[in-house]
Amino acid sequence: MTNQNSSDPSSDRRRVVLATHNPHKVEEFGQIVATVRPDLEVVGYDGPEPVEDGTTFAANALIKARAAAAHTGLPALADDSGICVDVLGGAPGVFSAYWAGHRKDAAANLELLLDQLSDIADPHRTAHFTSTIALVIPGGAEHVVEGLWPGRLAGAAAGGGGFGYDPIFIPDGQSPGAERTAGELTADEKNADSHRARAFRALAPLLGAL
Ligand code: IMP
Repeated sequence: MTNQNSSDPSSDRRRVVLATHNPHKVEEFGQIVATVRPDLEVVGYDGPEPVEDGTTFAANALIKARAAAAHTGLPALADDSGICVDVLGGAPGVFSAYWAGHRKDAAANLELLLDQLSDIADPHRTAHFTSTIALVIPGGAEHVVEGLWPGRLAGAAAGGGGFGYDPIFIPDGQSPGAERTAGELTADEKNADSHRARAFRALAPLLGAL
């Protein structure tokens, strides 16, 4: 990952700006892009942050990608993501970052969600992470893709890896009796399978047109 203002004249890799100020997402994206599209150079974005006043993941991802594309003149990628709990009708959803209030307290968000589900038995604790990625090409096309990572909520937090709701999310597809939360996965394990990885894999063919 390089800065949006730096350029390496010896590099012929195509540059794409990643419109996020969230260091966890930047790190995960860096690893995912390096694996799926190593020919791309992802540069960080430190321009103005737009108000995310959309009511869907897609609307917010487009707001962020359009702002970064306009500010840098580069093709811009933005991810808007969150956790969607079935028994809560898909909430927290787009409100994931602010579930316990606008102070964006990740520990308080997670605690509130666990408390809300405290009487809900394991079979009914199904949930998924969503990542919606927007690609905006200055003066050109806009694309939106989505990746879902299905699983269920644990009864208590476990693991210090990842960020946000990772310690209470148990991804599907693990061996019974040996299940781990996303917070207990290695970064490589999470980035191979996560909602963000799935969305980026859906986007990869569209990046070929850059
Ligand atoms: P955004 O930055 O507005 O897209 O908000 C995303 C919020 O969703 C984060 O603050 C986290 O609470 C949650 N979230 C999104 N992706 C993940 C993930 O990969 N792990 C854990 N929490 C996530």
